[in-house]
Amino acid sequence: MTVTPLGLTRPASATDAFLRQLVARVPGSAGATWPLTEVYTGDVLVGLPQSTPSDIEQAFAVAREAQRKWAATPVKERLAVFKRAHALFVGNARTVADLIQVESGKNRRMAIEESCDPPMVMSHYLRRAAKLLAPVKRGGPVPLLTTSTEIRQPKGVVGIIAPWNFPFATGISDAVPALMAGNAVVLKPDNKTALSPLYGIRMLEEAGLPEGLFQVVCGEGPDVGPTLIDHADYVMFTGSTATGKVIGEQAGRNLIGCCLELGGKNPMIVLEDANLAEAVAGAVFGAFGNTGQICMHVERIYLPESRYDEFKDAYVARARALDVRAAYDFGPEMGSLVSPDHLRRVQSHVDDAVAKGATVLCGGKPRPDLGPAFFEPTILEGVTKDMLCGVTETFGPVVALYRYRTVDDAVALANDTDYGLNASVWGRNAAAARAVAARIESGNVNINDILATAYASKGTPSGGVKNSGVGARHGDQGLLKYTDVQNLAVLKKQVMSPRPGQAYEKYVEGMLSGLKMMRRLRIR
Ligand code: NAD
Repeated sequence: MTVTPLGLTRPASATDAFLRQLVARVPGSAGATWPLTEVYTGDVLVGLPQSTPSDIEQAFAVAREAQRKWAATPVKERLAVFKRAHALFVGNARTVADLIQVESGKNRRMAIEESCDPPMVMSHYLRRAAKLLAPVKRGGPVPLLTTSTEIRQPKGVVGIIAPWNFPFATGISDAVPALMAGNAVVLKPDNKTALSPLYGIRMLEEAGLPEGLFQVVCGEGPDVGPTLIDHADYVMFTGSTATGKVIGEQAGRNLIGCCLELGGKNPMIVLEDANLAEAVAGAVFGAFGNTGQICMHVERIYLPESRYDEFKDAYVARARALDVRAAYDFGPEMGSLVSPDHLRRVQSHVDDAVAKGATVLCGGKPRPDLGPAFFEPTILEGVTKDMLCGVTETFGPVVALYRYRTVDDAVALANDTDYGLNASVWGRNAAAARAVAARIESGNVNINDILATAYASKGTPSGGVKNSGVGARHGDQGLLKYTDVQNLAVLKKQVMSPRPGQAYEKYVEGMLSGLKMMRRLRIR
């Protein structure tokens, strides 16, 4: 147990020896390391090896070798690993939360919730994967004499690039369906948050995942990314829209598939008949949960004129009363931003808005007394599109309130953005709320919830539209995207060309009347 200068008791699991063991699997042949810090104090916890291009090539070579054996392992045996892993992940959730907290600075309530994501994904695909991966026999062009079978082949080695805001969820959960489908994985986590995914991989190996199959390389994105993408057979990327465009371009040049899960500027529309207490509670989580660093969180709240003041007063009062501080227990309602660098970005958005005429209703300032990257829960009004935070994602605990006159206005305002990741509509009349939801250009829309219902529905694909991404995670496509289809076609008798001596005209007549007959029989 380490007591830090702030009087914080660092979690018992974050010992030097344990952290050194975790990072030991990261290749770093040049000897360079990154100082991975405890966010609450800024203390260096461990030196994270930085991988060179040749380390990355070697990681792919080892993964490729392991993948051949893994792909030949029956699906049932592969899935058995994840049944055991599920129990290990749930049993060690508190250690996972410790690591997530030290490296990201989020509060413990969010850290423990994040620890639950990979087990939820495992549960879902343990039910679905065998069916999705089983060959599917389809009819061929000539009934009885031809067949076509859809066979799912793993892509090979999948490169996963993950952000810092949900390092365990994005690092491990996105790898689970890839591995189940018979692929190997090379993960590049963010340097700041490599510990929790490294622990996840250790648990997967304890559950029986073959060594070598899940590799980790570390480094700054632009240093590691190009070599990683050049060696990958598919790329799963989660991060900002700007980086997503770079990754998508390189994947396109290499003619490999990619899934890009990017940023958002997510609206919340409160309808006249909404339960205001619930909407306020939702907006507190939506804007300040994970210190505003959730891709699906809320940055724009649209309120009817008639309820604006009532909502604003209750919301500001709740935001001011939030328990914000550094602690490794379940007390605080909000934790730190991820780094002083990120704090400067959030601060710059607020300063820019204020300079251009926005009003700060609460918050707006860093809190160095709480730790190096703490920022107050901040509510603004009067935000316009000439302000940074009026158009681009702030990704911090900063939210703007807007009035609307008609529901049509609200929908138009909600859609007036380049992003389309998540939205929510709040109202007691479910049919009316659904009708509004249907008009919002967004990959996810929640009714009377901010994001958890959509994100935790692992059976439904979840992704962004517009500048928020390409492709989706979860649902059948969340696993099938990691496979190629092999169309295995069999011709049992040579009937698809004229018989010996048959005039071509006769053959064509037979073929055309066959087409008509099959249509009548609804065969094709
Ligand atoms: P980021 O794009 O800066 O970095 C994400 C990852 O990409 C990191 O591992 C980084 O090292 C790496 N990277 C950076 N440049 C790279 C390059 N040129 N080549 C290869 N890799 C590179 O994003 P961030 O600041 O770490 O994360 C926050 C962003 O992620 C926010 O915009 C948030 O909305 C988004 N996000 C989206 C989802 C989603 O599911 N849609 C989920 C979480 C976060």
